[in-house]
Amino acid sequence: MSIVTAKEIMLEASKAKYAVGAFNITNLIQMEAVVEAAIEKQAPLIIQTSVTPSKFLGRDVLVTIYRTLAESAPIPICLHLDHSTSVEYCKQCADSGYTNIMIDASKQDYEENIRQTKEVVDYCHSLGGISVEGELGTVSGVEDQVKVAEDEAALCNPDQAVEFVERTGVDIFAPAIGTAHGVYKTKNPKVDFERMGKIHQMLNGDGVKTPLVVHGGTGLSKEYALKLVEMGGAKFNVSTELKYVLIDATYGYISENRQQYNPGKIDIIVKDAIRQVVSRWIDILGSAGKA
Ligand SMILES: [Zn+2]
Repeated sequence: MSIVTAKEIMLEASKAKYAVGAFNITNLIQMEAVVEAAIEKQAPLIIQTSVTPSKFLGRDVLVTIYRTLAESAPIPICLHLDHSTSVEYCKQCADSGYTNIMIDASKQDYEENIRQTKEVVDYCHSLGGISVEGELGTVSGVEDQVKVAEDEAALCNPDQAVEFVERTGVDIFAPAIGTAHGVYKTKNPKVDFERMGKIHQMLNGDGVKTPLVVHGGTGLSKEYALKLVEMGGAKFNVSTELKYVLIDATYGYISENRQQYNPGKIDIIVKDAIRQVVSRWIDILGSAGKA
């Protein structure tokens, strides 16, 4: 039960109105911290790696550690490749043993996005044991968040979303609704909750088939997160916050203990800090006790 695709745990989440926390990690300590927090909370979990850390650490190394941790864990855990713009790299990570792959062809035109997404879907489904995430519209960095949130053309068109899902066969779907990557510049960023709800209704109104993903979770308030889950979000991505916590915890420790040369102590501090962040999100997202 421990090694799962994102789709299988998200189907349950979507039906029961909670979201699975999806946390981006850049090293082993973070991966262990995320897993430990989810086990403590008895929550299903998605571990994510962006393309750069997955290339730096090595996708086979990451998958081996993932499998080792997941196989002995009493909770279901997925390993997800986040925002790969390369069809080829998606296939390589599928071959290595990632259990969810995101092909992000959202910067391509609509037809090309469909073509690339379908190619990854067909490849992963032929291997089996892998679900695929596609994206439509622009999930920007926070620099452009306001512009994107107010630009109808940059957000996901609900009719196109239905066609996109049908034509690609994608398992889980990330609609652009105004959320962004990074740290929001305001406490109340403009997010199109209604659009999210409409897309969820159109795709999953007669029973959940294609669960929805929320990108840009860092910095969103509890109220925003709950509203997004209510509107159909079943996977909630948190990336930037874990990077900040890693750097801040490390810097804090070194500043106060400049004469100590014991890396293990830094690891303990970092692990604890990450664990707290993950636990907090699991509580907000309602996935505690759902494993
Ligand atoms: Zn994202």
